[in-house]
Amino acid sequence: MTTRRHVVVVGASQAGCACTNALRGLGFDGDITMVGAEPHPPYTRPPLSKGVLVGSEPDDSVFLPVPGDAEVLTGIGAVGLDRDKNLVELTTGDKLRYDGLVIASGARARLLGDPGQGEITLRGLDDAVALRKSLAGARDVVVAGGGFLGMELASSAAALGKSVTVVDVVTPLLSRLGPALSALCLEAAADHGVRVRVTGTGLQVGFTDGRPSRLTSADGAFSVDADLAVTAVGDVPNTEWLHDTGLPLENGVVTDEACRVAPGIVAAGDVTSVRRDGGHVRTPHWSNALSQAKIAAAALLGREPERPARGHVPFFWTEAFGLKIRLAGHLPPAGEPTVLEGSLAGRRALLVWPGTAAAVNFPAPAPKLTKLAQQLPTH
Ligand SMILES: Cc1cc2nc3c(=O)[nH]c(=O)nc-3n(C[C@H](O)[C@H](O)[C@H](O)COP(=O)(O)OP(=O)(O)OC[C@H]3O[C@@H](n4cnc5c(N)ncnc54)[C@H](O)[C@@H]3O)c2cc1C
Repeated sequence: MTTRRHVVVVGASQAGCACTNALRGLGFDGDITMVGAEPHPPYTRPPLSKGVLVGSEPDDSVFLPVPGDAEVLTGIGAVGLDRDKNLVELTTGDKLRYDGLVIASGARARLLGDPGQGEITLRGLDDAVALRKSLAGARDVVVAGGGFLGMELASSAAALGKSVTVVDVVTPLLSRLGPALSALCLEAAADHGVRVRVTGTGLQVGFTDGRPSRLTSADGAFSVDADLAVTAVGDVPNTEWLHDTGLPLENGVVTDEACRVAPGIVAAGDVTSVRRDGGHVRTPHWSNALSQAKIAAAALLGREPERPARGHVPFFWTEAFGLKIRLAGHLPPAGEPTVLEGSLAGRRALLVWPGTAAAVNFPAPAPKLTKLAQQLPTH
């Protein structure tokens, strides 16, 4: 086992916390310093577009447990890395010496326009609190982006009684959930009064008195006005602090399957881009952050991570418009599913495709879904 005395974890959120916990779980008893740019203690994000946004879950329910003996620096970011001297450079001007580094700086919301224009996005706790306030004063809302986040946001806004339109350049969720589940979500959205528009060309945000209030297609043929326009068009990995360090950056920090980046440096979570099948794969989901964090901790300590006998199966869930969808396997599932139990029409079903299994409002635990996903191999 490699002997390391001070591990610095950059990014104090899901992956950073999980990695810190995993290091302690593996018996690492050296110092751990977590560096978090946000002013809050570590917290989890999935409730932000769901219970926290509609006010059914208290804001402080999102905070995560951190080992008491790990130092957590909040409101302090990493701005650079000196790999020759093993130093993380901080926004305060201080430098933190490490002999093991975990890169867990995650991602931020992608914008449609230039930064500083005032687009409203949802990535952090402060965004959720601000958006909840803005929604309270809005009658109608237009959401740019019909991905998981955009649809969850639309669902929450509709639950708050808002008139909601979702605009995307492609059919919402089709590229992530495949045709059967995408159609189910669109049907459920319509039942909740949400309008979905597919423009085919790029979108721009328009502003009224500094407030985002309009979405226009790039060709000008299409425009929706609302009290509030919210942008939910994906994420961008936070790698700026790693520029000019010689570390491989390719839509994220490039890792191998064991989350190794360079000697003494590992990465986990939304910031990563895993070298796989001749390309680079990002999996910006909650369960991926957790599983990578455990693998990264083991790799940093020079241990073999515990791996499932039949390989890692991604797991993902989303909740919108009365649908709780949980998927194990690779996205998107291709073609029509085999319905094992329930029915899609009844919106309660257990489904399988080659390499993927899903539960829609169906009580199947994650291990069962994973097993089902592995039963029909991907062709
Ligand atoms: C609103 C919302 C809802 C979601 N819902 C779901 C869901 O239902 N299901 C699901 O599977 N996934 C969901 N996700 C995705 C899931 O939350 C992410 O995959 C997960 O948060 C990734 O964790 P992370 O620690 O890698 O990155 P992040 O959560 O992005 O955390 C990275 C942290 O690092 C900090 N940081 C960035 N740069 C620096 C720096 N230079 N120095 C120090 N700190 C830095 C950031 O401020 C942030 O606190 C959701 C995400 C959002 C935003």
